Amino acid sequence: MSSIQRTRKLALVDCNSFYVSCERLFNPKIRRKPVVVLSNNDGCIISRSNEAKALGIKMGEPYFKAKDIIIKNKVEVFSSNYSLYGDLSRRVMRTLKRFNSEMEVYSIDEAFLDLSNFPDQDVEKIGKEIRETVLQWTGIPTSVGIAKTKTLSKIANHIAKKKISGITSLIGIENIDPILEKININDVWGVGKQLTKFYQKNGIYNAKQLKNKSNTWIKKSSNVLSSRTAMELRGIPCIGLETTTAKRKSCVVSRSFGKRIEKFQELKEAVVNYCLNASEKIRSESLVAKAITVFIRTSPFQRGFGYYSNSNAVDFPIATNNSIEIVKTAVSILDNIFKNGYQYQKAGVMLTGLCNDDGKKNLFSSEKDEIINNLMRSIDNTNYRYGRSTLSLASAGVQKKWNMKREYSSKIDTADFYSLPKIKAI
Ligand SMILES: [Mg+2]
Repeated sequence: MSSIQRTRKLALVDCNSFYVSCERLFNPKIRRKPVVVLSNNDGCIISRSNEAKALGIKMGEPYFKAKDIIIKNKVEVFSSNYSLYGDLSRRVMRTLKRFNSEMEVYSIDEAFLDLSNFPDQDVEKIGKEIRETVLQWTGIPTSVGIAKTKTLSKIANHIAKKKISGITSLIGIENIDPILEKININDVWGVGKQLTKFYQKNGIYNAKQLKNKSNTWIKKSSNVLSSRTAMELRGIPCIGLETTTAKRKSCVVSRSFGKRIEKFQELKEAVVNYCLNASEKIRSESLVAKAITVFIRTSPFQRGFGYYSNSNAVDFPIATNNSIEIVKTAVSILDNIFKNGYQYQKAGVMLTGLCNDDGKKNLFSSEKDEIINNLMRSIDNTNYRYGRSTLSLASAGVQKKWNMKREYSSKIDTADFYSLPKIKAI
């Protein structure tokens, strides 16, 4: 048996065209067609299938600009359905956890896995297994890039995306310069638009050129982060895995409305719903909030109507995650800042001063608190099992006129029993 080599080995698993893949999962008719997914309120293109990319549709392009190409080529268009994507993302991440590696969920469709415990010669096989398992268990195709550092595994993933096998390992390759030479500097992780411009001005056009630039020069002319990137390109790990997500300090839920809102009642329904989402979120992380801010505003771009924007914050007497108390406080703030005669475009709530809910009773807790805590727990459990908003507060409204514009939504929600995709028996 070969001895186990303990070089650091990181895999970046990235879902291919994630939102499009989620839509395709329940709609086999669009498997081979060009597909795009739009951002909130159907603004821009934020996910493209390979067929859509081949048509020249650009990432981030406003929908109206691409409309000609879309109509001409019968591209399938979807409004974003974050409830569906969030649920499938959790399934993918849960599957990845089964591989028993240290793991960092980096974004909704990407995770780093530490494969250092496997022998060098086995990692490609493990990567293949990861890919096949995720595909089999969730139906989502992924690409896997494996290398010694995060920055290099991002590059490996970039290469894997273009391969049918969907996997690239840079482990055990003596000289990776010929590979890095083909990677544009703006495709290197952590190199944004500004930095790209700066590097190009200084003759650095690809990853190899940055790798071979002296640290002294990089540090002097840029910053420490840039020199970390260069070190990582040399195979020296500088950016660690963030396995335990640092607990957040605040929780914001805000959205632009699909259409302008004038009535207090409608605005109130929106704010109540945001409160319910935010309080459910902090309860799921065992946090309590010390204060709440509510804000509302009209569109700054709407001609002929006055602009109005206001917000207010209130401290809770005792830090809380109780939906009823949070909603009550938010509605009284809204009552204070709401002005008649405006067309509101956006509202939001922010829970701040988040800290751990130690569950300890304090001087002021009563039997009533206990009952409310139990009530909150059963609401969360019921909603978790039977779909979001199965149980809610009456003030949250039923019609939800203020909901986002989602003209092309697939209306599938795997987290909601009544919106599950229907399967026809043949
Ligand atoms: Mg992706």
